[in-house]
Amino acid sequence: MNATVTRKTVAFTRNAVNVFFHILTRCNLNCRHCYINPAQHGTQILDIDTIRTWLSVFVSDNRPVNLILLGGEPTLHPDLAPAIKMARRLGYASITVDTNGYLFHNFLDRVTPADIDYLSFSLDGPTAEINDPIRGNGSFAACTAGIGQAVDRGFAASLIYTVSAANINQLEQMPPLLADLGISRFFIQVLGIRGPGADGPDALTQVSRSRWNRVVPPVAEAVARSGITVTYPKVFLEPGEPFKCAGNVAGNYFIFPNGRVYRCPLCEDYPIHALSFENNRLIEQPAINETDLFRLDIPEGCVMNKLVQPGNLAYGADGTPLYRIACCLLKEEIQVCDSPSA
Ligand code: SF4
Ligand code: SF4
Repeated sequence: MNATVTRKTVAFTRNAVNVFFHILTRCNLNCRHCYINPAQHGTQILDIDTIRTWLSVFVSDNRPVNLILLGGEPTLHPDLAPAIKMARRLGYASITVDTNGYLFHNFLDRVTPADIDYLSFSLDGPTAEINDPIRGNGSFAACTAGIGQAVDRGFAASLIYTVSAANINQLEQMPPLLADLGISRFFIQVLGIRGPGADGPDALTQVSRSRWNRVVPPVAEAVARSGITVTYPKVFLEPGEPFKCAGNVAGNYFIFPNGRVYRCPLCEDYPIHALSFENNRLIEQPAINETDLFRLDIPEGCVMNKLVQPGNLAYGADGTPLYRIACCLLKEEIQVCDSPSA
């Protein structure tokens, strides 16, 4: 058998629904790139009855519904474990919990690997020296300890690495750490210019197109060759590659504790959400909202990218964009498969 690397762009589909549910915004950390914006997303800790009611709105008999539970730090919610079990009973096809690794409320004692498809840990460097200036002192040690406990108990663990100018040079040091930690999926994420800290003195910066293309795809392939599935955002479209806005062609819902429900992550700093929970009913919001932006067809590709992070665009002398920016939700996935020898 030979190992073959398969690489695919994960197509948007309406045949599945992805529910990104922020059950609180409180967190024990204060990461420099945090996109949580309490002024826009609320400070409530949703009670378990509200969580059940909102979860039940997205359940469907016709298509799989995937749930990603987030915060803030979701393990700070005292009822995270019952919420997960409730989602299973409601019929969610997969359940992922995104965590910073501190695993509060004895979380791992209150759930089993059968309850959760993936525990997804956020770590932004291969060492404390790189990670902690981004995510906070002690966060590397806490996160890697949390991963160790989870893997020892049989949970499937994935790891999210948000690439910025502060840590792109160390991305290539990740493969041995991922193997040591027992990670089964690796998500490389791109820094978004959003959240309250986005234009502050400590703000992180995005990397150029050439640097991204030079570093990220080769590291992704190296990690995939070690048997770990890797996903990373497309970010920069090649000439001729089609542009699609997930807001028009996919079933993604980003829910916040104040009831706002967005279809696009780049819109989350603004009161332009497409939907809102009002008295526990999901209500479409009047125009103008993000849905009206999704319909705009511009030569730069993603309209929200042009509005909120235009620094990653470049233009020729005649004013034509040199490339288009993909939807921030468009991902490449790389896996290694065994193929029969020739
Ligand atoms: S762990 Fe997540 S929610 Fe908490 S500060 Fe960091 S990015 Fe924000
Ligand atoms: S990131 Fe851009 S392309 Fe993707 S959903 Fe938002 S507006 Fe649409």
